[in-house]
Amino acid sequence: MASHIVGYPRMGPKRELKFALESFWDGKHTSEDLQKVSSDLRSSIWKQMANAGIKYIPSNTFSYYDQVLDTTAMLGAVPERYSWNGGEIGFDTYFSMARGNASVPAMEMTKWFDTNYHFIVPELSPNIKFSYASRKAVTEYKEAKALGVDTVPVLVGPVTYLLLSKPAKGVEKTFPLLSLLKHILPIYKEVIAELKEAGASWIQFDEPTLVKDLDSHQLKAFTEAYTELETSLSGLNVLIETYFADVPAEAYKTITSLKAISGFGFDLVRGTKTLDVIKSAGFPSGKYLFAGIVDGRNIWANDLASSLSTLQALEGIVGKDKLVVSTSSSLLHTAVDLVNETKLDDEIKSWLAFAAQKVVEVNALAKALAGQKDEAFFSANAAAQASRKSSPRVTNPQVQKAAAALKGSDHRRATNVSARLDAQQKKLNLPLLPTTTIGSFPQTIELRRVRREYKASKISEEDYVKTIKEEINKVVKIQEEFDIDVLVHGEPERNDMVEYFGEQLSGFAFTVNGWVQSYGSRCVKPPIIYGDVSRPKAMTVFWSSVAQSMTSRPMKGMLTGPVTILNWSFVRNDQPRSETCYQIALSIKQEVEDLEAAGINVIQIDEAALREGLPLRKSEEAFYLDWAVHSFRITNCGVKDTTQIHTHMCYSNFNDIIHSIIDMDADVITIENSRSDEKLLSVFREGVKYGAGIGPGVYDIHSPRIPSAEEIADRVKKMLAVLEINVLWVNPDCGLKTRKYAEVKPALTNMVAAAKQLRAEL
Ligand code: GLN
Ligand code: ZN
Repeated sequence: MASHIVGYPRMGPKRELKFALESFWDGKHTSEDLQKVSSDLRSSIWKQMANAGIKYIPSNTFSYYDQVLDTTAMLGAVPERYSWNGGEIGFDTYFSMARGNASVPAMEMTKWFDTNYHFIVPELSPNIKFSYASRKAVTEYKEAKALGVDTVPVLVGPVTYLLLSKPAKGVEKTFPLLSLLKHILPIYKEVIAELKEAGASWIQFDEPTLVKDLDSHQLKAFTEAYTELETSLSGLNVLIETYFADVPAEAYKTITSLKAISGFGFDLVRGTKTLDVIKSAGFPSGKYLFAGIVDGRNIWANDLASSLSTLQALEGIVGKDKLVVSTSSSLLHTAVDLVNETKLDDEIKSWLAFAAQKVVEVNALAKALAGQKDEAFFSANAAAQASRKSSPRVTNPQVQKAAAALKGSDHRRATNVSARLDAQQKKLNLPLLPTTTIGSFPQTIELRRVRREYKASKISEEDYVKTIKEEINKVVKIQEEFDIDVLVHGEPERNDMVEYFGEQLSGFAFTVNGWVQSYGSRCVKPPIIYGDVSRPKAMTVFWSSVAQSMTSRPMKGMLTGPVTILNWSFVRNDQPRSETCYQIALSIKQEVEDLEAAGINVIQIDEAALREGLPLRKSEEAFYLDWAVHSFRITNCGVKDTTQIHTHMCYSNFNDIIHSIIDMDADVITIENSRSDEKLLSVFREGVKYGAGIGPGVYDIHSPRIPSAEEIADRVKKMLAVLEINVLWVNPDCGLKTRKYAEVKPALTNMVAAAKQLRAEL
């Protein structure tokens, strides 16, 4: 009876690690304090898994920041600018790489596959000298062992590590990173030898890049790596763990023919074709299959009966003693423990399982396979599944009907964009190079306090409305003073661009402690979409109307788009994501139409997270983009030509989806541009035609730096070289919520000055 957990959240049930890290960084706590909190967390996690009965318990899945950065430390791959002098890497060097220090900026961070977790991108150069510089994997293994828990140490696999790296600054972009394989393997060998020496009997290599579209050269690297490691690995059981999608047939063939490997971990939740591949290609005899059947990416209770039958079928293929029940991925991507949810009602709670509960599910499935089924546990689970299926809180026939009726049409505005822009211009009468901002203005401590107290009913509705109105008035007056053309209300009533809408829509639930690590000490608390989504009443019309009444300039209505709401939530798994997205789109559509009816002529629908929902495999991209873009169009296909629809996207790397962005058919898009070396503009340079209005951000709001008017004007001139003057807008990269007024005032003043100067010159 074997059970396995791929990895576990590190933050702790109440974000203990976050607070310990931040106190340490602030100099309030010593490194010993931080280490103590961390070792307590590790030991409680190991004990919890051991008590639950898990056989293969992971170690080295804890991290002070990020597991890829840990691997960089293990390999001594510290970029030169951190002036590391060799030896064991300490907190100083480690956190400098993660967060930068007074003199050197941090290393780049990027998304871990299609999750909202960010890793630190290794920077490698041809002449880098690797050295064994962090014994963390071994230390953690021993630490667990001393507690009486024999664990499976987990390492980021060598090929995945290299495929996630980038060439260091100054190194040619085409530098073949895989050529470093032979240089990092000796370090892996040292680690393996020490782990063996310490008594490890299993070792897990996470190689999730195997689920991507790899070419034969990249696949060959796996064969090379694990053949090279074969001798070192002899005497150990070796697991190659994959997750987030199925492993394509070629890659499956490659890894299952590796001699050194004794077990393979596959994602059976997102890897919808995994079962077919195993059935058709066969499974190597005598090896272990780690079946990732409990979802590591979501918060739903497992359907145990259905999982059990899948597992039984697999048992028929791989043999009884060779099947291990596992999670689909590390549990890092789900919330930690349902026990701490005091505000969710019992019915909804019965439908959920966070990391701690998933551990119990994995074990229950393993026991059931071994003929020791916990009948009470299984029948409680079956009852919860049934209640979820039949609950009127989940199913709203009206919404289902409305969403079903969307099929077959592609929902486009009747007039083409250039004609619409003409009609809008007659109404709005904007100057050339119109100026605007993305929505939020600085969020002061005072504002946060007022919102919190209002939520806790500590201040009256009347006082709350008065305060927010004053804030909006302040923001409106400032923008008029700066002479911005299209204003925003500043979003003082919102604490988060998804939560704000989720709280007002039906079908959403919110947790108190359902935090998921996003990067470093940062966590997000995604809403849970459990039922059909509808909008009981208008969500933003009141505040937008209040704001519009304070100025004669156009005031942008400000909404979060359906795809972004979807991608930043825990989404129900009982219907396709596209269907949930269409439902949200219908609610946002109602809001758009109410705003229009209330006299709001410019409405921005943010789709900040559209790009990040892109599937890991090329073959699935078109389908996603089709329903995602369609959902966006649904929200605004019904407005008049004279109503101007804006959208906004942060983060760059849009070049590959530019045609989908065009297909969104917004009237104006504001888009991140300044941090990405103007990558965006290169698409237009290459001849892509964009007829709608476009505002590539003219300065980076993520930095406290204040751009000069000249600098901004130069930027805009560069844009004018590739974009028509009558479609170009002037705006920052993103919302200003994290900035201070002391930065925002001069920056926006300079931005408007730049626009005016250019208008005068042209
Ligand atoms: N309107 C939002 C804001 O300005 C957009 C935020 C975002 O794109 N992440 O804060
Ligand atoms: Zn943004």
